[in-house]
Amino acid sequence: MSLQPGLYVTATPIGNLKDITFRAVDVLRQADVILCEDKRVTAKLCQAYEIKTPLSAYHDHNGEIVRPKILDRLRNDQAIAIVSDAGTPLISDPGYKLVKEARDQGFAIFTVPGPCAAIAGLSIAGAPTDQFMFAGFLPPKAHARRKTLMELSSVGGTLIFYETGPRLTEALADVEDALGNRKVAIARELTKLHEELRNGTARELCTHYKEFGPPRGEIVLIVYPPEEESWSDEQISQLLTGLLADHSVKDAASMAAEETGMARKTLYKLALDLKKHGEKTSG
Ligand code: SAM
Repeated sequence: MSLQPGLYVTATPIGNLKDITFRAVDVLRQADVILCEDKRVTAKLCQAYEIKTPLSAYHDHNGEIVRPKILDRLRNDQAIAIVSDAGTPLISDPGYKLVKEARDQGFAIFTVPGPCAAIAGLSIAGAPTDQFMFAGFLPPKAHARRKTLMELSSVGGTLIFYETGPRLTEALADVEDALGNRKVAIARELTKLHEELRNGTARELCTHYKEFGPPRGEIVLIVYPPEEESWSDEQISQLLTGLLADHSVKDAASMAAEETGMARKTLYKLALDLKKHGEKTSG
């Protein structure tokens, strides 16, 4: 049976080549063309499943030029599959603008679902799954990363990020600073030979990777939701006021973070306010 014309957003394995659905193989075999990020990567998948469909590159660098031609093909009733190097297209991968334009122009779009590293990692982490937020890659630069984490500090559910090994230690330190010493899980090399899931607090895992070196391979960083508040605002003010009597704002914030498990950044701001207020009232 041949495919209906339209765009087929098709998930492919995130490591283990066997993680592909029967339907994905059918769609990739029957499509008129497969749009892919890197032809060499997709060629391996095609070879494994005897998929002979022509491959055409679609990525961030050629999207603007190639997109009108793809939309023309859809206009000519072709069946077009889009894949990424791994997992679900559009999820931290190219395809968003194509899907949006195809949708705006009324073409049929079908999902051929399958693996996604964020969901695979979440499903084995042991973190709450009832509410979660996928926040993509953390910014590589420290300032932007901290800002992003601060913005996410009010999210009540589990947070999921994609991260690279070399940046993981810094990212964990910033997680502790901005979100508090929360529980985290590092899901690494999922579905591959060296698949690993490591649990701990942000600080424990930061210390671990500082000691043993950054992990290799592909990583999903999962941050548990904030613990139920056990300290009232008044108790925190009292704690900080006491600490400020003998310590600098910075040290008082660090010590309070240690004691409460709250984010050092938040406590620093509170301590600063308390100190300013104290100076005003005494002066
Ligand atoms: N579209 C893909 C998906 O659905 O998961 C994600 C593509 S994104 C460019 C690549 C990132 O996903 C990697 O840097 C890593 O953070 C994560 N990732 C992909 N495969 C993974 C795996 N097997 N194990 C852990 N993380 C993985």
